[in-house]
Amino acid sequence: MATVIDGRKLAKELNQQTKERVAKLASRGIQPGIVVILVGEDPASVIYTRNKQRKAEKLGIKSILKKFPADVDQVTVMAAVDQYNHDDTIDAILVQEPLPDQLDGQAITNAIRPDKDIDGLHPTNLGKLYANQPGNYPVACTPRGVMTMLHHHHVELAGKNATIVGRSILVGKPMAALLNNANATTTLASRHTRDLAAATRQADILVVAAGSPHLIKAEDVKPGAVVIDVGINRLSSGKLTGDVDFEHVQDVASLITPVPGGVGPMTIASLMQQTVDLAEWRHNGQK
Ligand code: NAD
Repeated sequence: MATVIDGRKLAKELNQQTKERVAKLASRGIQPGIVVILVGEDPASVIYTRNKQRKAEKLGIKSILKKFPADVDQVTVMAAVDQYNHDDTIDAILVQEPLPDQLDGQAITNAIRPDKDIDGLHPTNLGKLYANQPGNYPVACTPRGVMTMLHHHHVELAGKNATIVGRSILVGKPMAALLNNANATTTLASRHTRDLAAATRQADILVVAAGSPHLIKAEDVKPGAVVIDVGINRLSSGKLTGDVDFEHVQDVASLITPVPGGVGPMTIASLMQQTVDLAEWRHNGQK
């Protein structure tokens, strides 16, 4: 029977550390600041954004919500990004996905100052991650939270097989890069993968971020594997579930994350941690 990773408890510990770092910055007259740009009224985005804001305020981080109507034009959003790029009280700029079709999300991401790019999506930051460059730069917060979980549970990565199911630029790809940089042998699977079960069964570490409820069954998992479920799916019953058949996979895995209460809380905690990182890096660099 697998040990269940308590993402809420771990997130609480991380948030406590973040709060202490915020207090230290306050003694230097610095308050970290994050702006979330939200376009339209997508219900899930509204909830995510509210959760991020509440957590920021609780930790002493300045939080701004910049809302635009769903029919906003590109020039207006780009102007807002430019304004926050130059705003000294803002350390982190987050553009909440999904964006409506009339907006060019890539151009908006590329316009964010790399040292304020909290989601680590700017090509400069992605390039550094892929090149495994040393130094300080932001990486996507969900994979970062997963790495913190693995580290906390002393999961050995070097030389191990890691399979990541899902290759989005926000989750799967940076996850694969982080695991590969930690010397795991990585397989990055997608919906085009011919034999997904073969890819997952060889994994000592299996990270699933596909957005497909119960995609991974017990027979798809190597006995003793570490299974990290990033998926968040709302069933017609209203219940939240992951991409992994938790009930049965927990009999096979050695470590497993639940949904909810696993990766989700760690993502927000990592976002807060990285906002403070960005503030420290920027202000220390200015000294
Ligand atoms: P996405 O839709 O951008 O990407 C999904 C990826 O999964 C694609 O690469 C696709 O090819 C792959 N995929 C889909 N079905 C598959 C299948 N049957 N077999 C193999 N690969 C398959 O999604 P995303 O933004 O990366 O999010 C993935 C999931 O993670 C979603 O459920 C999302 O809600 C969740 N998520 C959770 C957090 C968190 O904090 N816990 C953060 C971000 C995303």
